[in-house]
Amino acid sequence: MYDLYPHQQGCIDELRQGLRQGHRRQVLGLATGGGKTVVASHIAKAAVAKEKRVLFIVDRIELVAQAANTFHAMGLRVGILQGEFTSYSPADDIIVASIQTIAKRRAPDWVDLIIIDECHILHQAHIKLMKSWNALPFIGLSATPMRKGLGQYFTNLVRGPSVRELTDGGFLVPVRAFAPGVDRITAALAGVSAGTTTHGYDYTESALGEAMNNRELVGDIVKTWKKLGENRPTLCFAVNIAHSKTIAADFEAEGVTVAHLDAYTKSDERKRLIGGFRDGSIKILTSVNVLGIGFDVPDAACLILARPTLSESLHMQQMGRGIRTAPGKTDCIILDHADNTGKHGTPIHFEVPDLDDGKGDERAKRKKKDKPRFVACSECGAVMEPAQFTCPSCGIDRPRPASSVHSVDGELVPFGSRGADDRADRLNWYLAMLWTVRNSSNPKDGIAYHLFMAKFNGEKPAWAWKDLEPVQPTPDQARWIRGEQMRRRIAWAKRRAA
Ligand SMILES: [Zn+2]
Repeated sequence: MYDLYPHQQGCIDELRQGLRQGHRRQVLGLATGGGKTVVASHIAKAAVAKEKRVLFIVDRIELVAQAANTFHAMGLRVGILQGEFTSYSPADDIIVASIQTIAKRRAPDWVDLIIIDECHILHQAHIKLMKSWNALPFIGLSATPMRKGLGQYFTNLVRGPSVRELTDGGFLVPVRAFAPGVDRITAALAGVSAGTTTHGYDYTESALGEAMNNRELVGDIVKTWKKLGENRPTLCFAVNIAHSKTIAADFEAEGVTVAHLDAYTKSDERKRLIGGFRDGSIKILTSVNVLGIGFDVPDAACLILARPTLSESLHMQQMGRGIRTAPGKTDCIILDHADNTGKHGTPIHFEVPDLDDGKGDERAKRKKKDKPRFVACSECGAVMEPAQFTCPSCGIDRPRPASSVHSVDGELVPFGSRGADDRADRLNWYLAMLWTVRNSSNPKDGIAYHLFMAKFNGEKPAWAWKDLEPVQPTPDQARWIRGEQMRRRIAWAKRRAA
């Protein structure tokens, strides 16, 4: 059994607290590399200790064996509910089931806790099960719990550490992103229609395929990889099968070992190709989406984004294939030929939003929370933060916008806002921190003092504030305070591990 890091224990504590508050439907938003399976195993272990049994539901048949093996390795007795391989009994600690089999057969009604893996893909069968087992607790797991209407089925969201925090803590590798030829991509996308798709509001796939599958754009992909890809094992995400095959053919023409994979690739052939990717005889695997590529494809150290998407969730899932740590791996190169990082940023810019209540226009919501655009260096294509004006890769300066802005914690704020408002803002923050600390399991005012200094670059809270009444934080304040506390826990875990 693997020990939990403090941030993982923190997630489990928060889920328990949620359950005590009456939330029987909770989502745990845990980033790639956050240790989802370890956390799930510990939840199951704790349930088993109370003679309770867990049903673990995966959304694809191929994932059953993988999950079962992992739980077995963690020392759990594992039953299987999956088509012809079904074999389980009440003596098992955890039953791993595919939602497809549950939809066809009945699920065992003697389980006490249900975990839904990848709960951003919620099928009708999941919803039916949640309705019929109204009294049982459900926990949904997802790195991107952003499905429209998820908040209608789940009432509580527990956020694990963010990608930025996990990257800072060394649990994930940082990325170096390049987005050359953004203008050409933007031009190609100009006429592409968008609408509701299987993963939310996004480009219409057929139109997207036509726009992207052309000589010039595919040629750019090959050229960029040869220049910047460092000959690394690479996964490429294409729009559709035809597009993926064109990309593969172009790489092959340039003498690069490459293979195309899709849902129709026969299982033996798929194994052979993935084996080739693993041993390095195949350098690039290209496929149509993150799921179709197959669960047992090892992570890459270079990703080619060739599938433009308006879905931040899909973008993050694709990026997730490159940022796990591996021996000798120090970073991941992102070659963006889809303008996805321009729209959505790199992994560290991702934050799990509140659960969607299913109301309102998705497009309007997306607009409202639109992030500032990330820009590519005109010289080398490196993706720069909105507030960055000197390229981190080649050192070239880009022109500054006319209006003068400075950056605080990644947010752009106009100059000249210091003064009385600023002091009131600091006091607000201090009282919010004090409130948070006093309502925690470790209610020491000194922690608020340190949080304040972390927020305001070492500035100390005013002595006169110490006797004021704490104030409940706004959601934004709560999120920042929580993040800072998480950073501290991770820093502590890192020191302990060193
Ligand atoms: Zn540059």
